[in-house]
Amino acid sequence: MLAKELVAMNEVDLLRLCQTTKCAQCGVSLHESTTGTRKTADGCLCSDCYFDRFDEELVAHPIGTPRLHKGR
Ligand SMILES: [Zn+2]
Repeated sequence: MLAKELVAMNEVDLLRLCQTTKCAQCGVSLHESTTGTRKTADGCLCSDCYFDRFDEELVAHPIGTPRLHKGR
């Protein structure tokens, strides 16, 4: 594929490209129905890697308090 073709692609085309590519993190072949296809700024990720990252983000920057710890 030519670089200028890639630039001309819209969001939907990029998403379609993702579905035939590999996870940028673990390298598994991505399929929407099995691994999931998550498009991120770093590339396409499988759902596992995507949520791993999401968990790390939550730990680093907690949005809320999922579990209340009753201190004594
Ligand atoms: Zn992955």
